[in-house]
Amino acid sequence: MEYVKQAVLLLGSNLGDRLRHLADALALIGDVGTVRAQSAIYETAAWGREGEPPYLNQVVTLATALTPLELLDALQRIEQHLGRRPADRWAARIIDLDILFFGDTVVRTGRLEIPHPQIAWRRFTLVPLAELLPDFIHPSIGQTVRHLLAECADTLPVTRYAG
Ligand code: ATP
Ligand code: MG
Ligand code: MG
Repeated sequence: MEYVKQAVLLLGSNLGDRLRHLADALALIGDVGTVRAQSAIYETAAWGREGEPPYLNQVVTLATALTPLELLDALQRIEQHLGRRPADRWAARIIDLDILFFGDTVVRTGRLEIPHPQIAWRRFTLVPLAELLPDFIHPSIGQTVRHLLAECADTLPVTRYAG
């Protein structure tokens, strides 16, 4: 029997036609599961790096029968297919596809950490996440997304861009 879970993904782009890259990624993500909901698109200055172009970010929920590692493999294939090349972590990129949550599953391996370890410290993640899932309880912190956003000390402005 297929075991379907709700994965929550963060899409990001800060190079080239950013809206196009998000749309192309979303279409390809639709091949690895069923996209259930998508947030608006938000713009934020590059986090952790000054002098790089601003990001567009979007959160989507995906019903998928893949395992977490299979989903990571699929997302990395999509990143490569869209033209992302290996580069420094946090370097400018045409697409970044991160797994924020995978149901209530907690994964802590060298290659994959779920929940994504930076969620609580990034407004660019929490704002679109709170639009879709304000009452979702972070499975390892034990607080709602709404609460994490209210408590977040990140000051980078996150502005609604489209959608
Ligand atoms: P950050 O994780 O801080 O957002 P990043 O998204 O820029 O950084 P990448 O260069 O896209 O980092 O990915 C680096 C590695 O992170 C990937 O090769 C992958 O193995 C690992 N990784 C660990 N946990 C996750 C996750 N939840 N989602 C996506 N990648 C993950
Ligand atoms: Mg990332
Ligand atoms: Mg990434």
